[in-house]
Amino acid sequence: MAASGGRLLLARRTARLQLSGIRKMMALAAKMPDVIRLEVGEPDFDTPAYIRAAVKADLEDGRYTHYTPVAGYLDLRCALAARLQRDNGLTVDPENEIMVSVGGAGALYSAILATIDPGDEVLIPDPGYPQYTQMTLLADGIPVYYPLREVLQFRPDLDELRALVTARTKAILVNSPHNPTGGILDRPILEGIAALAQERDLLIISDEVYSTIVYDNNLHYSIAAFPGMFARTITINSFSKAYAMTGWRLGYAAAAQPIMAEMVKMQSFFNSCASSVSQRAGLAALTDNSESQAMTAEFRHRRDWLVAALNALPGIHCPRPAGAFYVFPNISELGLSSDAFSMQLLDIAHVTSVPGSAFGPTGEGHVRISYATALEKLQEAVERIRVALPMLRR
Ligand code: PMP
Repeated sequence: MAASGGRLLLARRTARLQLSGIRKMMALAAKMPDVIRLEVGEPDFDTPAYIRAAVKADLEDGRYTHYTPVAGYLDLRCALAARLQRDNGLTVDPENEIMVSVGGAGALYSAILATIDPGDEVLIPDPGYPQYTQMTLLADGIPVYYPLREVLQFRPDLDELRALVTARTKAILVNSPHNPTGGILDRPILEGIAALAQERDLLIISDEVYSTIVYDNNLHYSIAAFPGMFARTITINSFSKAYAMTGWRLGYAAAAQPIMAEMVKMQSFFNSCASSVSQRAGLAALTDNSESQAMTAEFRHRRDWLVAALNALPGIHCPRPAGAFYVFPNISELGLSSDAFSMQLLDIAHVTSVPGSAFGPTGEGHVRISYATALEKLQEAVERIRVALPMLRR
């Protein structure tokens, strides 16, 4: 009975979690040969050759095939500390305040497990990366959404955020540049969030995995570098997006020693360490930024084309994102839900997108379209969308 029913063999923990709407879309798309995939959350570029070449020799010579220290190789942590100093204005001790992780996702999970107690409330951006909610639930924390609306360029309303803080609030999760909207948090907003965290004694978990992908005259700021904030901030970053290294599963976190020690402890229990060979690749990646910058330049070029092309379509309004590689057009004028829009688009046009509602209730009325896809494919996709629009069923 237990075995055949299946359910009884499983923990309640897993039943509560929901597979992301993105995975659902990917599964449907996998069955269509001519589909254009705009639901993807990773660069279409392969990992640059100089990174691949660096580890090839190591592997041939049999180097770096063993466990690494739990927090990662020290030379990589030193290189990351130098990077954080130069790009983010953060001064961190590589021995005690940095951890190399299995993707940014691994760093996020260690951060949440090390800081969130059962019943703690975590303020999470809505729309936002779905993992924030699911990881909070895994820690028996309570996700509380703060809305990011198009009228405020997908930035939080500070008064609204303040009003959501209760005696049980433990942390505010911030993500800039932002998935799914491409919005960024400017200095005044981050200062407001920092002031709130200090006033109410809150932790900040700052997900900066898209930090290198910002356009025009915009700048990326790390909230941990603001006065007094390092002690209460966990900064998360990753090699995935900056260096087109999603499959290597390499990320990192920086935080003050008392927090970092506990995060490393958590990581020791569920991952032991990040992959040795990926860490060597990461060290090589950091020696040269030109390819990373070239990828960002290509993303900007695609963004410019895509935003103009989508805005030329009737019933679609597409704000111009300042970072990451997603647009989050408003489709509410079309008179159907974001889920219906995405499903019908797949059905009629064989183009995948992610319904905004998959990222939280405030995402309704929008869809996420990734432009981490070659320009010719984006052009073909927009043409297919144009033809499909009059066929959508309300
Ligand atoms: N944070 C955000 C906002 C993301 O979009 C992603 C990947 N889609 C991650 C974290 C995790 O990325 P990775 O684990 O590949 O570093």
